Amino acid sequence: MPTHELDLMHGSVPYTIRRSNRAKRLRITLDESQGLILVLPRGISEQEGQKFLAEKRDWIQRTLARLDRQKIHRADLLKPPARVPFHGRDVPVTTRLGGDMSAVHWTGKELLLFVPDPRHGRPVLANWFRRRATHFIPEKVKELMSEDSPLPASCRSALGSVQRIQVRNQKTRWGSCSARGTLSFNWRLILTPDAVVEYIILHEMIHLTHPHHQGAFWKAVLQACPSARKHTQWLRTEGATLMRAWPPDLCLT
Ligand SMILES: [Zn+2]
Repeated sequence: MPTHELDLMHGSVPYTIRRSNRAKRLRITLDESQGLILVLPRGISEQEGQKFLAEKRDWIQRTLARLDRQKIHRADLLKPPARVPFHGRDVPVTTRLGGDMSAVHWTGKELLLFVPDPRHGRPVLANWFRRRATHFIPEKVKELMSEDSPLPASCRSALGSVQRIQVRNQKTRWGSCSARGTLSFNWRLILTPDAVVEYIILHEMIHLTHPHHQGAFWKAVLQACPSARKHTQWLRTEGATLMRAWPPDLCLT
């Protein structure tokens, strides 16, 4: 428990003093879970530590403000949204509160979200999206492996090495392809237009033949998907926004 108090321009902040034999120099840490901690190395007095802390007032103030902004942001992330992206469409969400079960129902036009508590709105949706993606993406992969696949002939024989198709909760990547033949895809692809999903799948499939991003790789990609450039651009902007709006910790499973 914090036992000390540092005066700031507006108000004050409690802090804890921790002694450490391993610490080489005076140090402060400040995060949401543990608050402000002053670490004193061996041989340094509490007074010296307090002087150091006072010198770091500006940094502490700025960090507290940032943590505060993040807290608001996180609370916003939990609220049920009024609209969400789904297969690249901006669809309305109707939220019904009450009951003890959480459920999501897609009518084909809108998403009906049933939650006991509005603070569970987005996590419930995230988990539902992820389950949908777990079916949708492997189906798409199979479709793109079939006879009428747009894959160039030179890349088809490598399809035999696919061992596993995974849908995961990656933080930054949309897809990946391992040397062992595992194709992994991000569940957030269910939020993007189907053409983007197809592009990512083809991109990873072509990596089975060309495990790099050199000329031969892009040539095959453009053959399979002539709009590839447009999709990579979309992922760089809109896709990055989606990743931030649906952080990995929203998914409970
Ligand atoms: Zn790649």
